[in-house]
Amino acid sequence: MAASTPHPEADTDNVQARPISLGIDIGGTKIEGVAMDGDKHLLACHRIPTREGNQAVHDDTVTLIHHLLDPVGPNRGSVTVGLGIPGRVDANRGIVDDAVNLGIRHMALGPAVAKTTGLPVRVENDVNIAALGAASQAGDSLMAPGTTPHSEAARKQARRSASVPGRDGPRALPDHDDHVVVFINLGTGLAAGIIRWGRIEHGASGAIGEIGHIPVDAHQFPCKCGQHGCLETVASGSAVEALWPGIAHPLPDLIAQASQGNQRAQEVQDIIGHGIALAVQIVALTIDPGVIILGGGMSRTGQPLLDLVTEHLNRSAACSHFIASLNLPDRLRLAPADLPIAAIGAALAGRMATDSRPSDFIGKEIAS
Ligand SMILES: [Zn+2]
Repeated sequence: MAASTPHPEADTDNVQARPISLGIDIGGTKIEGVAMDGDKHLLACHRIPTREGNQAVHDDTVTLIHHLLDPVGPNRGSVTVGLGIPGRVDANRGIVDDAVNLGIRHMALGPAVAKTTGLPVRVENDVNIAALGAASQAGDSLMAPGTTPHSEAARKQARRSASVPGRDGPRALPDHDDHVVVFINLGTGLAAGIIRWGRIEHGASGAIGEIGHIPVDAHQFPCKCGQHGCLETVASGSAVEALWPGIAHPLPDLIAQASQGNQRAQEVQDIIGHGIALAVQIVALTIDPGVIILGGGMSRTGQPLLDLVTEHLNRSAACSHFIASLNLPDRLRLAPADLPIAAIGAALAGRMATDSRPSDFIGKEIAS
C-alpha cells in the first residue's frame, strides 16, 4: 500500500486544532479518501483498491482513515467521517443494503466504523455524496465556458467564490448552499442526487432521484428492474455498452463514428442523446434546479457529451416555446474531472451531520 502523502498544496503547520473532515468514497474498484480542514481546504488525498465483503470494506475504511489522519498530525480539532457507498443507504442509521458490487448484502457500516475508530460517522449513498461534492463546486470550476450561472443567487455566490482569501494557498472549496443543484449520475446506471440549500435530499424511502427507472422510453428495452422502457435503458453507461458493444470506452467512439457518417452510430447516438436530454428535462420540470450537473463515468467524455445533450435539448426547445423558455442548456455543467468530488462530498456530509446534531452514535449498538 502506498504511503499517504499530504496534498501538494497542504500547509500542515496551519491546520493545528482545526476541525478535520474526512470523506471516503467506497467504489466498486477503489476506495478514495480526502481530509479537509474547517475552511474546506484539501489537506490529504489517498486511495486504495477495493476488496469485497463486509469485513474487508470495514477494515479498508478504517485503514484509510488512519492514512488520511497521519499527515494532519496529532494537534487537530474534532474529526468527523463521511462515507459514500453504492446501494440502498439508511443515512440516519448508517446502514447499507444491497451494495452488490462490494459483496455487501446488509451492513451496519456507520456504527461499525464509529465503534472501531471512536469517530462520528455519517453514511450516504454514493450518488448523493457526488452530488454534494459537485454542488460545492457549482458557480466556480463548474461554470461552463461562455455561460453564466442561472440564478442571481448563483451569480452572487460565484462572485463570493472568486474573492475567497488564500486562493493561492490550499485549494478552497466554496460554499454554495443558496440554491438547488441536481447531479445526474451517468454511470453504469442512471440516478440523480438533489442538493437543496447545500444539503442532500433523502425523501421518505431513499428512492428520491431514482429517475433511471421512470419507464418513458418508446423503444421499450427491458430493464433489470423488471419494467420496460426505463430511462436507464437509453441514458447510462450500460445502455451505451448494450447499443454500441465491443468497445472499452464506447461513448467517445460512438460520437466519433457518428460524426464520420456511420449510420448505425448516428441512430444509437440519437437514442442516447435523446435519453439523457429526457433525464435533464425530467429533473428540470420536477425540481427546477438552477444548475444541472452531468457526472459519473460517461461525463468524462467531456465537451462532446455536453454538445450532444445540448443539441437534443435544443430540438425539444425548437418545437416547444415552453421548453425553450426554461433555458435548459444554460443550466448544464459537467462535473469537474480533476477533483475527487465524491470524497469531498462525503467529507462535507460527515461534517454537516455532526454539526447539526447534539450527539453522534459513537460506539452505540444499533439493532438491525
Ligand atoms: Zn428500470
